[in-house]
Amino acid sequence: MELTVYQVPDWESEPGLRHGFLGRGGGNSRGAYAGLNVSFGVGDNPRAVKDNYCDMKRAMGMAGARMVTMRQRHGDTIIDVAEPCKDAGEGDAMVTGAPGVFLGVLTADCVPIVCWARTSQRRLAAVIHAGWRGTLAGLAMKTVRHIESRHGTRARDLRCALGPAIGPCCYEIGPDVSDPLLREWGDKAEPSLRREEGKTYLDLRRLNAALLAAAGVREERIASAGPCTRCNPTELYSYRRESRNGVRNTGRQASFIGWAGTP
Ligand SMILES: [Zn+2]
Repeated sequence: MELTVYQVPDWESEPGLRHGFLGRGGGNSRGAYAGLNVSFGVGDNPRAVKDNYCDMKRAMGMAGARMVTMRQRHGDTIIDVAEPCKDAGEGDAMVTGAPGVFLGVLTADCVPIVCWARTSQRRLAAVIHAGWRGTLAGLAMKTVRHIESRHGTRARDLRCALGPAIGPCCYEIGPDVSDPLLREWGDKAEPSLRREEGKTYLDLRRLNAALLAAAGVREERIASAGPCTRCNPTELYSYRRESRNGVRNTGRQASFIGWAGTP
């Protein structure tokens, strides 16, 4: 079976840039993890996960390179990555200015965001893991500010894409989530909430796109790739879907970005 890959078509002409939002299609994992699970932390067979990384890297032009991941905590810690490593530490966003460093984010409903910029001085890549807690903390906005202050790259030079995540069709939330989001983000959050028959649904991608725009990323440079995770069981892992089905855990899909070259 072929791998499931979503990409931003406009980005494919950028020399040296590699990016992709992978789904669960293809892969070596079985059972509840069936497909291209890339998490070693969910109880899957580590041999299958290793093989999944190999298959993914071969298909995506990263053979022989490392995909740097972090221990995601639903927080707002941003990690600068200077060289390829296996584990960048605890955090929910990573930024690199080094070629040959591919940054990866693992999700199963949360929003994976990948960003890049190329100016005459430098090439930059970043990933963000945004669930509702990271969104409440404004992680997307903080990452853009970090890129400006620490890396000297302006927000208006950034291009960002938000990958497959649970959509407003499926993401029902309670006041424990909607109240703090509205308190924190007010007018920015309101258009991302859908109310129907006494229920409230959240469009996490839309809210994160609004936060990126508020941080100065040009709206025409913010893209979206891939469908709702929960609506697409063949293509994508969805933690909420599987937990409603009574399955204790499921796999995680990978999203990545980086620049080819020697670190
Ligand atoms: Zn859906």
